Amino acid sequence: MINSGNNMDNKPAQQHKLTITYLYPVSMSTYGDRGNVLTLLRRAEWRGIAVHIKTAEIGERIPMGDLYFFGGGQDHAQIVVAQDLAGEKSAFLRAEAEAGKVMLAICGGYQLLGTSYTDGQGNVLPGVGILDARTVAGAKRMIGDIAVMPSDEFAARFSREQYEASGRAALIIGFENHSGKTFIGHNAKPFARVQRGSGNNGEDGTEGALYKNVLGCYMHGSLLPKNPHLADFLISTALAVKEGKPAPLSSLDDNIEWAAHDRVLSAKFGL
Ligand code: GLN
Repeated sequence: MINSGNNMDNKPAQQHKLTITYLYPVSMSTYGDRGNVLTLLRRAEWRGIAVHIKTAEIGERIPMGDLYFFGGGQDHAQIVVAQDLAGEKSAFLRAEAEAGKVMLAICGGYQLLGTSYTDGQGNVLPGVGILDARTVAGAKRMIGDIAVMPSDEFAARFSREQYEASGRAALIIGFENHSGKTFIGHNAKPFARVQRGSGNNGEDGTEGALYKNVLGCYMHGSLLPKNPHLADFLISTALAVKEGKPAPLSSLDDNIEWAAHDRVLSAKFGL
């Protein structure tokens, strides 16, 4: 719990500061994923955390952040972004990932954090190489609501029990819209197992990929407003890495968020 007031010795509680670096907010903005940045901003500010959002577009230096966000985009945007990322920028992002920085990448951004993305015209785009995951464009688009169960690897690191105890399904929900089929290699773990929907490729039952504190997945929606536990996990992890100690967050009244979450599960999947 962050001590929002004075602590015992009457010194003001340390104010947490969180810098979010938003990658390609214009070029990679097709699917409304900026809602994730707004959610991180609000949920941090509601806890008294000072948030600074920096952006990096084509041709611009990537400012260092505590948490990086990379949204989805169409093939033609990905070609330009992949070229912009090649070289120094990819090396910088790889170093940040190795340092344990939190990154959330959705769909097109997820694909570009992998090793390569072969688009619908057969262009092989180099990925940043943080996630051991390669993507090839498929013949059909995978579109629709999706529900996934976090993998044990991920669930062990975020308090699924806390949400099961509250009677909330541990399922994470979103909306997918991609033709790319992503296959994970040995140096990445799946983020989750698909319960409803397609996920990484519609074949192996996995969704997303994890490496250190980097999470890539196909879940638009946007993802975080209806999955408050995941949003809080990303904020507290980014602060813990920055400050070198656990950064538990005070609880919020998430009844509206969970009502939206549960509504999707019941209305779309009968769960
Ligand atoms: N262009 C990629 C694909 O179709 C990514 C799409 C997206 O970001 N939703 O798979």
